[in-house]
Amino acid sequence: MNVDKLMNNLEKKHPGEVEYLQAVREVVESIEEVYNDNPQFESANIIERLVEPDRIIAFKVPWIDDEGNVKVNLGYRVQFNNAIGPYKGGLRFHPSVNLSILKFLGFEQIFKNALTTLPMGGGKGGSDFDPKGKSNTEVMRFCQSFMLELWKHIGPETDVPAGDIGVGGREIGFLYGMYKKLRGDHTGVLTGKGSNWGGSLIRPEATGFGAIYFAQEMLATKKESLAGKTISISGFGNVAWGAALKATELGAKVVTISGPDGYVYDPEGISGRKIEYMLELRASNQDIVKPYSYEFEGVEFHEGKRPWEVKVDIALPCATQNELDGEDAKTLVKNGVMLVAEVSNMGCTPEAVEVFSNNRILFGPGKAVNAGGVATSGLEMTQNAMKLRWNSQEVDQRLHEIMCNIHGQCVKYGKKEDGYTDYVKGANIAGFLKVANSMLDMGVI
Ligand code: NDP
Repeated sequence: MNVDKLMNNLEKKHPGEVEYLQAVREVVESIEEVYNDNPQFESANIIERLVEPDRIIAFKVPWIDDEGNVKVNLGYRVQFNNAIGPYKGGLRFHPSVNLSILKFLGFEQIFKNALTTLPMGGGKGGSDFDPKGKSNTEVMRFCQSFMLELWKHIGPETDVPAGDIGVGGREIGFLYGMYKKLRGDHTGVLTGKGSNWGGSLIRPEATGFGAIYFAQEMLATKKESLAGKTISISGFGNVAWGAALKATELGAKVVTISGPDGYVYDPEGISGRKIEYMLELRASNQDIVKPYSYEFEGVEFHEGKRPWEVKVDIALPCATQNELDGEDAKTLVKNGVMLVAEVSNMGCTPEAVEVFSNNRILFGPGKAVNAGGVATSGLEMTQNAMKLRWNSQEVDQRLHEIMCNIHGQCVKYGKKEDGYTDYVKGANIAGFLKVANSMLDMGVI
């Protein structure tokens, strides 16, 4: 494989798909050596087969708002690779959604799912619909219309979507309701379902919990722990609150959260009643960040800024892709950060990752750090298939084991001669080898 040639070809075929090309480049650069050391991969042209999705389903989603106006959004499902199991990956509802973003997310998902050791392929989907500011009935009508098309392409053994930005328990409920009505059966096709109708305990907090378990393992390599550490978190969505909860439980202090309009700095720490307060705001579809700064004493709101300027031991990007850039990384390093873990997918730009690596800062990439979400979705699928339900402790214990195992795989393939672990390389190689060897076993299809 010649990385530059491959990337030039891909850029010509998919001009302007910035996020997708960024995600592919990161993976191919890290696996180049292993790929070229194993000629069987090149003979089967694994790389060109891996970087293109199996198929992309694109459709329109017409729906009617509360005033009776007819609206039209775009809907997609990118079924990327099913070498090791049914396509699996979330749905994102956000105005920024486009094919480049969904292809980057679907591509990342292939390796992340492989790392979990569970039999799940990679996929992603979503819409440019913005649930923010919409009523419950508008969200319901949109989800129903979205599913009227999507149901033809998914199934428990085919493709199993879940949540992501803008898609939480409420949206999964509306989507599943329509799927069930159309199919006339109650199969476990979506994950992140309500706990009364097939959902797994711990799934809502799994991505955040898993990320903290992973960070714990990273710290342990330096004989450190979370106790007494300060943490900055961005966003305050599905994954951020789980991370804040678990980090606090393990003795750390979370001092920031953020939204698109700025961040909040709370030197006393964001925990207990404060987390519950924000979850209430979130459940009723309200803004969180500014109201938080009015509600609690001693809290500062920094308009239009990102939380990476605050001096902390650990930084956890939890909002969206490329939310922490090279300059942010330099500031964090200058302020003595010891660990950065992407809970959001591709939360850091390549320049930021380089700064962390050059300064030998512990850096965990999203596909390893946030794999606890999809891993617990996999556990939800297992429980659905067995028609059984595990208790919280059992799910949490399995999640913990999976995260420790992923950490072990990253160290196995990413440890350098000087003892520093390149977790990006480790995660990419471990995920790639599993998928590529499975593709080899199955021939050219
Ligand atoms: P949510 O929609 O629940 O939360 C996203 C948070 O980030 C919100 O606080 C939102 O603020 C903020 N945000 C979203 N877009 C932007 C933006 N463009 N600029 C600044 N802030 C933004 O999403 P999730 O928590 O589910 O997802 C967050 C990240 O984690 C994503 O990268 C996702 O792919 C990744 N992830 C999620 C998993 C899951 O289980 N949900 C699993 C694995 C990864 P506001 O609401 O005010 O817009």
